[in-house]
Amino acid sequence: MKIIPIFFPNAGCKYRCVFCNEWMATMKRVPLSICEEIKKAYAFYHGDENSEIALYGGTFTGIKEWKEILLRVEECALKIGITRIRISTRPDEIEDAEFLSNHHVTFVEIGAQSMCEDVLEASKRYHSAKDVKNAIKSLTKANVKVSVHLMTGLPKDTKSKSLFSAFEVANLNVDAVRIHPTLVLKETELERLYIQKKYVPQTLKEALDWVSDMVAIFLDSNITIERLGMYQDAQTLPNVVGGPYHPAFGELARAALYRKFLISTNALKVHAPDKLRSQIVGRNKDLKVEFKEDGKIWVESENATISFKKWLKEHIVKLKEISKCDS
Ligand code: SF4
Repeated sequence: MKIIPIFFPNAGCKYRCVFCNEWMATMKRVPLSICEEIKKAYAFYHGDENSEIALYGGTFTGIKEWKEILLRVEECALKIGITRIRISTRPDEIEDAEFLSNHHVTFVEIGAQSMCEDVLEASKRYHSAKDVKNAIKSLTKANVKVSVHLMTGLPKDTKSKSLFSAFEVANLNVDAVRIHPTLVLKETELERLYIQKKYVPQTLKEALDWVSDMVAIFLDSNITIERLGMYQDAQTLPNVVGGPYHPAFGELARAALYRKFLISTNALKVHAPDKLRSQIVGRNKDLKVEFKEDGKIWVESENATISFKKWLKEHIVKLKEISKCDS
């Protein structure tokens, strides 16, 4: 399934979050003719009937005329044979989930970013964790799938708070998640704080540690992880002035989780599907663990065999103990 993105930078946003400059992140203008944009994007991304039109880059349902725009998008999508639309929006802007559902919106990406109130406040999100829960509830009731965005390293965030947010979102039985470590983008309030040394971004090592544990939580809950790390291309990368950017962040985060598994089990040999070879041993070569192709993930150590699934359960218990929102 292919996602065909159309960007509405900051459209419908009543506030500017401290970290966000969608204009800088996407370098695109608000489309003048939405159907022309869709057709161009459809050709560019080699779309087909299984593709999804994605209306990204702002608060779609916060745009005054969002219903009219959605009807135009729907009409255009159906003409080219696409029956699925996805939007991104804020949790406090879901007022008519039925309308979304009735007009081919099958997936909504909710920017939650954190489930801790002090982090939301310090990031100038101006919504609460309860808004996230309510939005998910009304979308699920209307049979719309939900993907939740979480960020690590926001102002006032800690590892305990990021883990708490991941547990909260996993408990809400969402369909998918995206996790991004916070990057400092040009022309944002965060850039000003960073220059004034009032905001210190995560190091790549820290971000990989936190995100790999969040990956563990979502793997254990069978929730699809759609993306790890913010995508940047050659045009937008110069706008990143700080923070743990890495082009293969997702691969590194998964490798970091497997590293924890290999180290804590004193693994000598690891068995796993070949497609995971690079994440499990390819990026953890220094551990000198032998790799054997297998359908399941498990390790052999000197005196035991341990499955990844079992280890994950025990690891989650430890993470649960340290997850909390208190400052
Ligand atoms: S709501 Fe989303 S798009 Fe709008 S300013 Fe905040 S992060 Fe950016």
